[in-house]
Amino acid sequence: MRSWKKYIMRKETDFLVIGSGISGLSFALKAARYGEVILITKKNKVDTATNLAQGGIAAVLADDDSFDLHIQDTLRSGAGLCHEDVVQMVVESGPARVRELVEIGVEFFHAENDPDKLDLGREGGHSKRRIAHALDLSGRAIENGLLQQVAINPRIKVLENHLAIDLLIGSKTGIGQVTAGFSDRCLGAYVLAPDGAISTYQARVTVLCTGGAGKVYLYTTNPDIATGDGVAMAYRAGARVANLEFVQFHPTCLFHPQAKNFLISEAVRGEGGRLIDEQGHAFMNKYDQRGDLATRDTVARAIDSEMKTSGDDCVYLDITHKPADFIKKRFPNIYQTCKSYGIDMTKEPLPVVPAAHYMCGGVLTDIMGRSNIENLYAFGETACTGLHGGNRLASNSLLEAVVFADQAFRQCAAEWPRISKLGFPVVPEWSVGPAERIEECVLITHNWDQIRRLMWNYVGIVRSDRRLSLVREKLVPILNEIDQHYRDFLLTPDLVELRNIAQLADLIVQSAMLRKESRGLHFNIDYPAVNDLEWKKDTILSLAR
Ligand SMILES: Cc1cc2nc3c(=O)[nH]c(=O)nc-3n(C[C@H](O)[C@H](O)[C@H](O)COP(=O)(O)OP(=O)(O)OC[C@H]3O[C@@H](n4cnc5c(N)ncnc54)[C@H](O)[C@@H]3O)c2cc1C
Repeated sequence: MRSWKKYIMRKETDFLVIGSGISGLSFALKAARYGEVILITKKNKVDTATNLAQGGIAAVLADDDSFDLHIQDTLRSGAGLCHEDVVQMVVESGPARVRELVEIGVEFFHAENDPDKLDLGREGGHSKRRIAHALDLSGRAIENGLLQQVAINPRIKVLENHLAIDLLIGSKTGIGQVTAGFSDRCLGAYVLAPDGAISTYQARVTVLCTGGAGKVYLYTTNPDIATGDGVAMAYRAGARVANLEFVQFHPTCLFHPQAKNFLISEAVRGEGGRLIDEQGHAFMNKYDQRGDLATRDTVARAIDSEMKTSGDDCVYLDITHKPADFIKKRFPNIYQTCKSYGIDMTKEPLPVVPAAHYMCGGVLTDIMGRSNIENLYAFGETACTGLHGGNRLASNSLLEAVVFADQAFRQCAAEWPRISKLGFPVVPEWSVGPAERIEECVLITHNWDQIRRLMWNYVGIVRSDRRLSLVREKLVPILNEIDQHYRDFLLTPDLVELRNIAQLADLIVQSAMLRKESRGLHFNIDYPAVNDLEWKKDTILSLAR
């Protein structure tokens, strides 16, 4: 067995930020005003959901819009589970955070008739045009703008291909005392480096910005990094996680054998695109009075129902009635990508299917982004802040990420006199025990495939009690097998991620089994109605401590 001991390192920093999407980068830039930041990211720094975002970021920026309208749209979408104080705070902070992005150089698209104003897009569920965008490459513009600032900041060190495995927790290291209101203290994380070494990164503040968990499902719009690592690590560490049954399925992912996970933005419907069936009939008015501009859950379920009734493999999104020039100009990336698959969206409807897109639940935080573990923050898609409730409103997630990065920064700034005095206690190094290098990688890939298929078939857009209990039974032996792999084999990124998607799958199923009603994104045919009396509340899970 290779001697791993000599590779073990210990690093200390003020802030350990895990993730290089909009939430991690935004926080790092602000936190660096106070201390040293180490930002680790498990692949290349641009491998993020942020980089793929097309539509843009929602905020009240138009003269005919108001905070109240954005709040009402968010609450309506959230199906009774949004935390109203959080919604109000996020919406009211929105314009300032978008202006900050503009100031650091994010190149949003400006109105043609007034170059001083941002051009604002419209998306499903929004009653006004309020989406700041960079055409259909909005996320890339944001990611680039933030990365450029991070690159020139001497207090931020970015480590690519560094994967956080588990959090370092006080009680497990003999640091028993915690502040009232918290259940434990976070001291940093164990991190797997590209050469296989596992190091101890100790931090005064640890921030989980690890994004979503779309890879738990077979079909997803998410990038490969979206394996729910932050939620899984936080849960194992004793954090409370919430609302994991609310998985948003994007209604319109391109249906093409070569397109792995290409999303057709909500903005295509916002600009007049209509969903039609194989025969060319528009069907959304049958399901909702808002027609094609209904919220994602309604549209995804409508498509699911159309496909199940007709037996067709997909439905179609038709925007051919708009001028070709407009389509090419407004959606250059979608147009080009579809063209590369042989589909000209100016002349023919796009074949589309729903796919897992966004995790509304996550690590439960307060309005400042704090988890119930002292010095552990979470925000962005990893967190459940109370903004989205049972269903996220389109383009509110990039907004949530920048707003909570700012909230967390303010909290750290206010507490800096205390935080800056925290020491770096001696903690145990990662122990590999008798583990050996894995020789048969098929053991890992097979489990990956099994879990993702099970989740797609049993815990998808429409659920039932029977399927939920069956999937739980099927997951138990897989979870046990992965636990055994974890003890037997030296860690690889694939094994760490497998353990995390398995954990997430189990948590999603547990949450879905608890909620005996249908609300927002969670639809169970055995309880088709909303049950406000018993279920107008978050579904909270935590390890018994
Ligand atoms: C195709 C697509 C289009 C979208 N369009 C929009 C849109 O128009 N508007 C909108 O508001 N939202 C949109 N969303 C959602 C939005 O993009 C995401 O919710 C948001 O970008 C999440 O940002 P984040 O910083 O939380 O995570 P991400 O941007 O996903 O970044 C996560 C980071 O964490 C790192 N990481 C994960 N696990 C570990 C680990 N164990 N160790 C180290 N690093 C780790 C990853 O490598 C990555 O750097 C879209 C999502 C997708 C997939």
